[in-house]
Amino acid sequence: MSALETIQKSAQSIVTICEKDRLTKADKDSLLKLQGEIFTQIDSLTGCEACGGISDLIVSITINTATADLCRECGIQALNVGEIRKSGQRRRSSRKSQSLKRSTKATVQESKSTVPSPVDLRARIETETGLNKATIRRVEKIIEEIATPMNVENTIQYVASEAKIAKIKVEDGQLEQVVKLFMGSDSDG
Ligand SMILES: [Zn+2]
Repeated sequence: MSALETIQKSAQSIVTICEKDRLTKADKDSLLKLQGEIFTQIDSLTGCEACGGISDLIVSITINTATADLCRECGIQALNVGEIRKSGQRRRSSRKSQSLKRSTKATVQESKSTVPSPVDLRARIETETGLNKATIRRVEKIIEEIATPMNVENTIQYVASEAKIAKIKVEDGQLEQVVKLFMGSDSDG
């Protein structure tokens, strides 16, 4: 059975269950299972490297060292012509998503900055303060939940009182360090 047929069959089973007068726990489990199957099958659908069509009948064809995953039609065509004609690399999508890509390009470039990733920052804080990850994460959460941004001093005070309430084991000095590092103001006293 092809992926599309399996999806169709699962979808029909879902309809059948939903049309019941009264559902049981077992029905819910079946629905979840069917949904999982549908997801797996959809995930297995692949784009043809020549025409971009989505199909569950993709075959890998190699002609003269060129290899491509092609749909049935393009596969036959490639074999007839004796060469694989890929439609421009990485251009499997429709016109709609292409214009979408173009419009988001500018924003992606803009947001590119030298700010270290949160993971790097946390690791750095861990090394500098000697606190464990969980504690750092809890302090970070307090900082994140501040609705109106404050200056460093007020933030430290606020986080210190919140940390006390939450019974987070952290010394005042460490806390100050963590807040400053998260706020990116560790360099100026
Ligand atoms: Zn094709």
